Amino acid sequence: MLKENNINNIGYLILTHTHHDHAANARKVKDKYGAIVIVHKNEALQLLNGEAKLPQGTHPLTRTLINWVGKRVESRFDYEPCPYDIDVESFFSLKDIGFNAYLIHTPGHSSSSISLIVDDYIAIVSDAMIGVFKNSVYPPYADNPKELISSWEKLLSTGCTVFLPSHGSIKNEKQLRKNYSKKINSKIKNL
Ligand SMILES: [Zn+2]
Ligand SMILES: [Zn+2]
Repeated sequence: MLKENNINNIGYLILTHTHHDHAANARKVKDKYGAIVIVHKNEALQLLNGEAKLPQGTHPLTRTLINWVGKRVESRFDYEPCPYDIDVESFFSLKDIGFNAYLIHTPGHSSSSISLIVDDYIAIVSDAMIGVFKNSVYPPYADNPKELISSWEKLLSTGCTVFLPSHGSIKNEKQLRKNYSKKINSKIKNL
């Protein structure tokens, strides 16, 4: 994919979290391009060990899948360990390296999930949202659903209007707000 898009230079590699589908090739990218690897401190050790953790399911089906199949094959998702250069916590500005962008901690899908806010209107949210369903952005997998909803609140407060999940297509602020209100209202009802 990098070749197809004529990308011959990668200065920074931001890992939104360390699940296999997001971090398995980090070492290759680092070795080939000398990229500076950025990861959240909660999963820095996992990256150093190349240790993949599978997330919990958020729906009965995905929960069953993880509990019955996932945990038995978890170690098969391990990948080549990768050293990191920068570990971030709640906020990290990229201004010093020439980008009008910053990273914020948006945990829930995993404890280390981070989102990249670009030009104050685009949020690259990775797996904090899913873009494959028409009416729902709620990911099928999340270790801490409560934290995830708080992260949605944080994302809404950035003022971004465009949200880019890693899986599926682009979502807008209205869609996220609608999903957020639905989750908050159902939580209030269940109190
Ligand atoms: Zn993930
Ligand atoms: Zn993913």
